[in-house]
Amino acid sequence: MIRVQSIFPGIDHLTDGMGVCMTLLQGTERALLFDTGYGTEDVRQAVAPLIHGKELTVLLSHGHHDHILGSRWFSRVFLAREDFPEYRLRTGLPQREKVAAQAAAKGVGLPADFLTAPCPGPEAFLLPDRTAGFPSRQLDLGGLDLLVIQVPGHTPGSLMVYVEQRQLLLTADNWNPCTWLWFPSAVPAPVWRENMLKVLDALPVQQVLCSHHSALWDGEVPRRFIAGLTDSRLALAVPVSLDPSVDTRQASPDGEGMVFVFDYSKFRSCAGA
Ligand SMILES: [Zn+2]
Repeated sequence: MIRVQSIFPGIDHLTDGMGVCMTLLQGTERALLFDTGYGTEDVRQAVAPLIHGKELTVLLSHGHHDHILGSRWFSRVFLAREDFPEYRLRTGLPQREKVAAQAAAKGVGLPADFLTAPCPGPEAFLLPDRTAGFPSRQLDLGGLDLLVIQVPGHTPGSLMVYVEQRQLLLTADNWNPCTWLWFPSAVPAPVWRENMLKVLDALPVQQVLCSHHSALWDGEVPRRFIAGLTDSRLALAVPVSLDPSVDTRQASPDGEGMVFVFDYSKFRSCAGA
């Protein structure tokens, strides 16, 4: 069951049965769905009554399974080209089998064809402009203006959406209260930090929505989190066991009980140590 939470008029944060969030943005003319969840529920059906027949664009923040497997409910989806390899990997059978096991453990029911339903080949989302040095593109939904920015971090093709009228940034997985930067395609932690700070310096972000939390954050919270992860704090991070092939370590900025998990060997080579 997809839970719909109205954040502002025209902005809904949706949470699927597995607990990941998507965001539906709509103006007077058009709608945009940012991410599609794990594919455990029919997100197209959940969105249809909310958009009243408006044209819907489906934009994927990045190529990870918990954001893209719901693509199966749509005929067209857009993604940054740099994340196409991730999309192919994460829509494959081994990843679907892992998700099916996680769903069973959580008691979440799956569509009968979960393992076999085809996902559309993603189309490249073109970003002809630049914002804070990153590829970007403006979209007008009709009274709701969006700026889509590609900011390498969690993955090389990670997209974020800034909603100008609300000074709201959708960070997807580039920032969460538990931010993961240890997957093979993630950039080194200091690169992510500098990239994110450039964006936060360039845009007047007052509020943030992310993929793994259902409520709004004050824009200062991710700013403090990211700026607090200095090289010296990263150097003192403690090992956590997540994947034996990666030296995963965890650091916590001051206060707020949030964590950052990253690939320590990438950090060391980036820091030149
Ligand atoms: Zn992700």
